[in-house]
Amino acid sequence: MQLPNHIQSFLQNYSEAVLVTDSTETPLYVNPAFTKLTGYQIADLSGFVKEVLYKLQIRFGSQNANQAYWETGITCKNGSEIWVRASLSPIELSTDNNGSIFTLMNNPGVDQMKGLLTESETRFASLADATPVMIWMSDPDNLTYYFNKSWLDFTGKPLEQELGTGWFKNVHPDDWKIFNDLSAALKNKQSYQCEYRLRRHDGEYRNILEIATPRFLPDESFAGYMGSCLDISEMKEVQNELATQTTELIRSNEELEQFAYVASHDLQEPLRMIGSYVQLISKRIESKNTESLNEYMDFVVDGVNRMQALISDLLQFSRVNRKGNPFAPVDLNEVIKIVLAHLTKRIEETGAVVTAAPMPVVNGDSFQLIRLLQNLVDNALKFKAEGKQPLIEIGVEDKGTEWLISVKDNGIGIDNKFYNRIFVIFQRLHARDEYEGTGIGLAICKKIVERHGGNIWVESESEKGSTFYFGLKK
Ligand code: ADP
Repeated sequence: MQLPNHIQSFLQNYSEAVLVTDSTETPLYVNPAFTKLTGYQIADLSGFVKEVLYKLQIRFGSQNANQAYWETGITCKNGSEIWVRASLSPIELSTDNNGSIFTLMNNPGVDQMKGLLTESETRFASLADATPVMIWMSDPDNLTYYFNKSWLDFTGKPLEQELGTGWFKNVHPDDWKIFNDLSAALKNKQSYQCEYRLRRHDGEYRNILEIATPRFLPDESFAGYMGSCLDISEMKEVQNELATQTTELIRSNEELEQFAYVASHDLQEPLRMIGSYVQLISKRIESKNTESLNEYMDFVVDGVNRMQALISDLLQFSRVNRKGNPFAPVDLNEVIKIVLAHLTKRIEETGAVVTAAPMPVVNGDSFQLIRLLQNLVDNALKFKAEGKQPLIEIGVEDKGTEWLISVKDNGIGIDNKFYNRIFVIFQRLHARDEYEGTGIGLAICKKIVERHGGNIWVESESEKGSTFYFGLKK
């Protein structure tokens, strides 16, 4: 079948690209404008017709039958893609053969738009890949279809494994519940912010802050989410460290205030006594009355000694943190042996029985641990009950992350209203002539235990004995 001459000569100089097929869709003719636009001659066209024109026909044959044109991308002979506006009309080739005439109009505006779009997409991808922030995008079903390079570098997984819900496998199982909490925001297509732990390529879980915003198309339909994620682990560590330091600062400040108050108060007491006896002595010397001078001098010396003891205790107290030795493994069985050796004389004098359970090895400062246990056993011997043989038991309990050490006695006991007070520097519950001491022993014990990361406390009943407990980190 040939295209009638008069039609051919009309189309020959027609400025738009035209293709004519017969009723069996066999290409009959293309005009020079068509060859110029697509590169195809009539001889090359069977594949082209199948691929593109078939698409057009379906389109024209469907609900848009009345549409005058349709836009589509077509592949030219040299492989390039162009965007065309195509129209289709029937043409009577002869009385019994109705063919079709296709006109393809190149649409430079759309091509330009496509070019711009491609450029903007490339720009987005290179920007997204250059940023250290991890970026992802999801579709309206919340299936993720894009991850930038930072994300893939972080998880160390190929894109195929992360797509859809694949990336979920990197989230710490304990944090999956967070995504349930977000379901309301997702349902209402709202922005959200959340934190979870994400497994890094080296297997370590890192804290991630994720901020996601919904995306909408120009027709306002929901297109999915776009999210950015930051590894905030270091920031969190700094925050936690800061919080710990602040708590420690508040604590040490309170301790300092208490210390200054108690120290000044207690140091004044012997000083006042020294002052008044020195005055008495000077009056006696003035009046040349030497009576009781020796006795007064004894009081002065006693005051000076007490003052010296207080100052030396104070120094010891202040040295716990400043002058402590670095931590090393310490066998507490050895510590107890040394403590008992130091206290042999007192143990014999009091007839006490001291027992100790097998002790663990802990990480600590051996001198301080000796000091700690010695103070406690010494107090147990000092505050023994009248007429009772002192029984002192040193015990240990495994509490998982720490060892709980106890020093139990059957002495005079402590009223529970004094449980905290006795750990404060210079606080004593008895007069000096009843029980000797400066009241600093337990304050030092507390400081030593705290330096070792534990707590110290007492449980007791008046008259029935006391048990001092302290924890040592494993
Ligand atoms: P000191 O022994 O020099 O008085 P501490 O700080 O060691 O100072 O003790 C403070 C106070 O706690 C003691 O004065 C005493 O009242 C009470 N205390 C300490 N240990 C015991 C104990 N094992 N039994 C009864 N009371 C105790």
